[in-house]
Amino acid sequence: MPSPTGSEKRSGDKPDLKNLTLAEMEVFLSRLGKEKYRARQIFKWFYRKGVDRFDDMTDLARSFREEIPDLARIGTLDLTDSQTSRDGTKKFLFTLEDGLTVESVLIREKNHWTLCVSTQAGCRMGCRFCLTGRFGLKRNLRPGEIAGQATTLRFRIPEGPDIRNIVMMGMGEPLDNYESVLTAIGILTDDSGPAFSSRRITVSTCGLLPGIAPLSRDATVNLAVSLNAPDDETRTRLMPVNRKYPLKELLAACRAYEMPLRRRITFEYILMEGVNDSVEQAEKLARLLRGIRCKINLIPFNEFPGSEFRRPSENRIDAFRNVLIRHRYTAIVRASKGADILAACGQLSGQGDPAGTVLTPPPRSVRNGGNDGKKEKEG
Ligand code: SAH
Ligand code: SF4
Repeated sequence: MPSPTGSEKRSGDKPDLKNLTLAEMEVFLSRLGKEKYRARQIFKWFYRKGVDRFDDMTDLARSFREEIPDLARIGTLDLTDSQTSRDGTKKFLFTLEDGLTVESVLIREKNHWTLCVSTQAGCRMGCRFCLTGRFGLKRNLRPGEIAGQATTLRFRIPEGPDIRNIVMMGMGEPLDNYESVLTAIGILTDDSGPAFSSRRITVSTCGLLPGIAPLSRDATVNLAVSLNAPDDETRTRLMPVNRKYPLKELLAACRAYEMPLRRRITFEYILMEGVNDSVEQAEKLARLLRGIRCKINLIPFNEFPGSEFRRPSENRIDAFRNVLIRHRYTAIVRASKGADILAACGQLSGQGDPAGTVLTPPPRSVRNGGNDGKKEKEG
């Protein structure tokens, strides 16, 4: 039998089909003596039609439909809350089967939407500027819980069909949950299922070195690296992970990251006043990245209640960016979206409502945990 998730193996529960790629589901069913093609049928019901009950899968033979619930189960991911920001960004709260919660953020682009998904409940990397990091790691998300944020929203909100890009930049460190992230990518990009383009999936890492080379081998997704400082001293102060995997080694791994032609690594750089935002530091950054095919996203620090850093002035942000432009880098200042609902980068906590912001009531069937596949109107 394929090994779906550790906890299921431990508890002896039935495997959750939502944690399996199509290939894994085929192996699982054929080992049970079932026809392999049933896997593709189930996969299509899940990801093409948004149907999550064996009873509703009308092209499965009745005998199979009666038998399968004894052999396998379909995990649930409940959409339990949503908030809409003044700028149109939306934040969704998912409740996992064990009651933990994670968040996803939907960001409007010109002609489509980008969904930012979580890969862990919490995070153990302890970056000092990040709200998610404050709560520590509760647990890794399973493949179905990662992919499910996108595949659930696709059928449950009006914008769902227009979700084009997926960025793993929500809660958690994707490379700290490598196997599940990879399986989730396998599910999301399967042509018989959700069929997201791997060119439009981005994995963002704080620089967990051992995962970078395997990722370029195992998937063809985009890589984003949260850099945030041009020297080891500053970076270690902000990001404890840098002590173990310092810049020189991290950048060597980035240089070696294999990508199809014309694709570039993204470096994320949060600008924090008086910490990493001087023109001297911009010059240093330009030198550091020399020779790497990349673009640089400058993210003015998003303040949150109790945060110790400040967002620099527009003048300082411009000056920093201009240095990089002069060195012929593509450097974009990423507009902060959804800050009023704590949906901006690094502000996800899954803790409900830490800032006391007003919650938009979720649509009725969301509140009921309904699963009728109907499109929802935002409240
Ligand atoms: N763990 C991964 C992905 C999730 S963090 C990583 O670190 O890359 C998502 C992004 O939010 C990262 O680019 C991180 O640098 C950024 N971020 C975290 N806290 C932030 C804050 N307070 N203001 C702006 N960006 C922040
Ligand atoms: Fe974790 Fe990323 Fe936040 Fe660092 S920035 S604590 S790696 S989620």
